[in-house]
Amino acid sequence: MVASEAAPFAKAGGLGDAVSSLANSLSALGHDVRVLLPLYSIIPQDLRQSFQPLSGAFSIHLRREHWARLWEFISSDNLRYYFLEYDHFFFRDRLYDGPYGAFEDNPQRFAFLCRAAIDLPEFLQWTPDVYHVHDWMAALVPVYLETVARRGQLEHVGSVLTIHNLQHQGYAHRSIIDYAGLPWDLWRPDKLEACGCVNFLKGGIYFANKLTTVSPTYAEEIRTAALGCGLADVFSFRGGDLVGILNGIDDSLWNPATDQTLPANYDANDLNGKNRCKVDFCRQCFGDEKVNGPPLFVAVSRLYPQKGLDVLGDILSWVVETMDVRFAILGCGEWQLEEQLASIARRFPDRIWFYRGYDEILAHRMTAAADFFVMPSRFEPCGLTQLYSMRYGTLPIVRATGGLKDSVVSNAQGVEHATGFVFYDLTHQALYDAIGWACATYYDRPGDMLTMRQNGMRRDFSWKQSSQRYLDCYHWAMEKKAN
Ligand code: ADP
Repeated sequence: MVASEAAPFAKAGGLGDAVSSLANSLSALGHDVRVLLPLYSIIPQDLRQSFQPLSGAFSIHLRREHWARLWEFISSDNLRYYFLEYDHFFFRDRLYDGPYGAFEDNPQRFAFLCRAAIDLPEFLQWTPDVYHVHDWMAALVPVYLETVARRGQLEHVGSVLTIHNLQHQGYAHRSIIDYAGLPWDLWRPDKLEACGCVNFLKGGIYFANKLTTVSPTYAEEIRTAALGCGLADVFSFRGGDLVGILNGIDDSLWNPATDQTLPANYDANDLNGKNRCKVDFCRQCFGDEKVNGPPLFVAVSRLYPQKGLDVLGDILSWVVETMDVRFAILGCGEWQLEEQLASIARRFPDRIWFYRGYDEILAHRMTAAADFFVMPSRFEPCGLTQLYSMRYGTLPIVRATGGLKDSVVSNAQGVEHATGFVFYDLTHQALYDAIGWACATYYDRPGDMLTMRQNGMRRDFSWKQSSQRYLDCYHWAMEKKAN
């Protein structure tokens, strides 16, 4: 696998969780999985201590040759991580952006990673069966495989490209073709070119043997003009090779029965520990210890338009003025939305709590403490937080899009299988009504609440089924390459 993030080493969102948990699950099934990542300086020191340097300088053949160092880490499941050390590109405080937006040299940084992935087998004297590459940052790998690396050691190696979020495609000035050492005949609208730029993801979509995205509904949505982000035609062209596979979750990290970050543990048969988590959290945020206090609604998210939390921000004061509820929100991202949420929280300190930042432990505690988890996304390729919340007996309130639609069973379909609340239009009124619906269920039908919590906690969100589907894709890619 080639990726720009993998938890716990470096993670900006769901991509990092998905890469490492899928790799872990395949490795546990006995497959020889190796993951190439950049050696970012932000990788925590305690993790870095267990990396081993590989001997010899590693040569990367872009247009000009570059020299880097490789480090290896082998997990308890025999999963091998290779870390590419090249400080000029990866010694930075953040993964993709600084205070003034995305790093200008992101195309060079990730072209470098992709070419390193192509040069790695020769360095290791080991040939993979298939490259599984993730998002635009790794999307040049299939392009190399079908062009400059078409003959030789990698001749029969297949490729699978997974799109975790189509919104980010990796646009670059055309000079990147020279930098990357790619041939200029790729500068065509049916290869790398898009709107006068190079589009990394588009190239990957054209050249990968098999394409996947992270939920069946998103696989349909990206073929439409509304959610295709300019590439709907390309997906229609490659439609026969595009599969939607829902992400799983890492049960060893997200399990309320064993989660060490919680003040109390619990499972579907005994939810007492969940009450303790709520009381403990509310004491810290709102300063009271009510055992049967008002319902707690939570959101943990990047704060960007995709997530729709601006719509929540618009109605929050209306909600807390008309319903007996509490909100706790953890997130960071767009300054304007951060400010909007911070100012409402200041107006209603006993009802709304907002923490601006990124905090993994808090994310676990809030997911456990909450009664409801709000995700009014404009689009959502898969979404992991609704899966985590169901696992923790917290009922998601989601808009019917992408993986949210595929993973949450609406209360409207009858309570016996329901795991949450689903609404359709992203309007103020529709979100207000969905919150009201959840609130009424909390106060009037505690039996339904318990049934839904237990339904969610007993669903299987592990990688078991999805990793099997990825294995099928790998076989298809290898067969395609063989023919
Ligand atoms: P996306 O990848 O679009 O951000 P996902 O729901 O797939 O959305 O995954 C988000 C991941 O990032 C989850 O693991 C979530 O807990 C985590 N996360 C998002 N924002 C924060 C935050 N502010 N603090 C801690 N974890 C966060």
